[in-house]
Amino acid sequence: MYPLSYVRPASLPEALDWLARESEARPLAGGMTLIPTLKQRLAAPSHLVDVSRLPELQGLSLAQGVLAVGAATRHAEVASSPVVRDAIPGLAALAGLIADPQVRNRGTLGGSVANNDPAADYPAAVLGLAATVVTSRRRIGADEFFLGMFETALAPGEIIVGIEFPVPRRSAYAKYRHKATGYAVAGVFIAETEAGFRVAVTGAGPCVFRWQEAEQALAAGGAAALDDTALEETGLNDDRSGSAAYRANLVRVLARRAWDAVERAG
Ligand SMILES: Cc1cc2nc3c(=O)[nH]c(=O)nc-3n(C[C@H](O)[C@H](O)[C@H](O)COP(=O)(O)OP(=O)(O)OC[C@H]3O[C@@H](n4cnc5c(N)ncnc54)[C@H](O)[C@@H]3O)c2cc1C
Repeated sequence: MYPLSYVRPASLPEALDWLARESEARPLAGGMTLIPTLKQRLAAPSHLVDVSRLPELQGLSLAQGVLAVGAATRHAEVASSPVVRDAIPGLAALAGLIADPQVRNRGTLGGSVANNDPAADYPAAVLGLAATVVTSRRRIGADEFFLGMFETALAPGEIIVGIEFPVPRRSAYAKYRHKATGYAVAGVFIAETEAGFRVAVTGAGPCVFRWQEAEQALAAGGAAALDDTALEETGLNDDRSGSAAYRANLVRVLARRAWDAVERAG
């Protein structure tokens, strides 16, 4: 490690002040990604601005068909919350599949979504559920939020305050875990909403993406049509965890598992 300052503001405006004043300051939430990044000297912020206890980033509530989850909510809280389990069981199940109990007890929804790791689980739910990312400046729809590998629509100094998930009719997530890390070699989130089906894929490409052919197949013919739909392997990850062809097939298998879980849930 190298010298840096840790600050714990008492409010969102105070945190935003720190980030505006110090150009090399970074928000710190659970630290599950940021601290290892510092240890490896892949980042060298001047200040860590702890946002994990900000009152504005806490809370979990359901109103008018929308589940609002504060950015500082830990994965373990989402997994075990009766409100989430009742409203969007697919989201609670996804949170329970992240990493291990230690990481789930520290890592936060906002940290995961801001980080946008290509193999992270939450981006699949945010995109699959057409959620809205609420920040210190604006509201960003999921389709506009995830831009590329570790890249989001967030501007420097912008803090995620919470995520609003419209409650779908039904949803489910299926994941194939990396044996060592727990991250998704691939993961598929399927939601059936008033507007139709959404299928979001994580782990398989450089960034979470919607598999629109699968959405159309589900709308046209359910499981049988889904089984006949192939994912184009161009642009998929091709690494030690699996070739692009392997991942294309894995996504198809996981989509079928997620759909079976959706049907069981319904
Ligand atoms: C061993 C291990 C296994 C893991 N396995 C998985 C897995 O299976 N699936 C999975 O999805 N994830 C996994 N993770 C990642 C984990 O879920 C992290 O918790 C998550 O990526 C980051 O959340 P955090 O709260 O720790 O954020 P931090 O590490 O504190 O921050 C991450 C980044 O987000 C920024 N940030 C944090 N909060 C905000 C905010 N509110 N607004 C704007 N920017 C913010 C920080 O500045 C930083 O750039 C794993 C991590 C570890 C260490």
